Amino acid sequence: MARVKVAINGYGTIGKRVADAIDAQNDMEIVGVTKTGPSFGCEMAAKKGFDLYCTSDDKDMISSFEDSRFVCKGGLKDLLSKSDVVIDCSPGKMGATNLKKYQEAGVKSIFQGGEKHSLTGLSYTSCANHLENFGAETTRVVSCNTTGLSRTLVPLYDLCGSLKVECTMIRRAADPGDSNKGPINAIKPVLKVPSHHGPDVMTVKPEIEINSLAVAVPTTIMHVHAIIADLPENHGLTTEKILDIWKGTPRVIVMNGQGNRITTTAEVMEMARDIGRKWGDLHEIFVWEDGVRLIGNRLYYFQAIHQESDVIPENVDCVRALMKLEQSWTESVTKTDQAISRYYNI
Ligand code: NAD
Repeated sequence: MARVKVAINGYGTIGKRVADAIDAQNDMEIVGVTKTGPSFGCEMAAKKGFDLYCTSDDKDMISSFEDSRFVCKGGLKDLLSKSDVVIDCSPGKMGATNLKKYQEAGVKSIFQGGEKHSLTGLSYTSCANHLENFGAETTRVVSCNTTGLSRTLVPLYDLCGSLKVECTMIRRAADPGDSNKGPINAIKPVLKVPSHHGPDVMTVKPEIEINSLAVAVPTTIMHVHAIIADLPENHGLTTEKILDIWKGTPRVIVMNGQGNRITTTAEVMEMARDIGRKWGDLHEIFVWEDGVRLIGNRLYYFQAIHQESDVIPENVDCVRALMKLEQSWTESVTKTDQAISRYYNI
């Protein structure tokens, strides 16, 4: 069967990672990636052998590549004409302009969490609503935080049939490669209360009642979520049973923090670097086993999110949903993760 042809529009933090994850699969291929102009990021595309296009169709922008050592094959329109689906990894809030271009070209599209749900009217997380996205024209892979919340809350909801959740997102100030954001010596609460992070889960699993607060802290490596979830009466669960559910959930890692001396995000990231994926990525959500406790109907837990990478395999599964390649989300997740492991030889 012919491979699905995937374009990446915006080859930055998320785009370069998604491109590698797609390149690892045997049912899809990268037909090109875009950059606004020649920059160090083009080097990696060239090394990987990905065709390079300009994010714009403007002749001046395309010709800005001419004086560089990078070969630009054309503008966005040229790339779209060769693609079945485009993964939009441009900085947030460009979605409305870009969606029009994709629709004009008759190409399916996947946006990222920097765009609002209202752009596409549909959002995606593999464990929550893969089938709802089956054959869709356009959707949005939810943000890193929403992906993280969904990974642990959806399996709990599926078991209990009801969940009321309050959570606090302790967010990294900036990505490691970003010199423009802060704070660097403050804790900055998000004063729009509740924050958008928790309620965004309801775009993929409306049955979960959830609210959140958020603060940004001076770190670049991960987010931490402090979560309180109220289970229904007669849930029949124990702390141990909940841990067992998560241990059997794809893309969730449960580890004892004190026993493994992995009590902070610094050690979690060091462990991720040991795993051996490029950039030291951790696609899985990390739950501290000894930070989980069920008291009566109320569950308390912490989890850590590698903001640059938990959404990466979700984009691959989302291509399978839109292109009707795989109906079962668990089959898709297994395919995606095994292919990525082979790619990095881990
Ligand atoms: P980024 O700034 O690292 O990369 C964006 C890329 O898009 C850059 O290469 C930029 O040159 C390019 N670009 C600029 N203008 C463009 C245009 N008009 N069309 C296409 N591309 C253009 O941003 P990012 O962190 O990769 O974020 C991309 C999306 O992913 C955003 O919606 C963001 O909210 C979301 N997201 C980011 C993270 C994260 O931690 N970085 C996590 C989850 C989701």
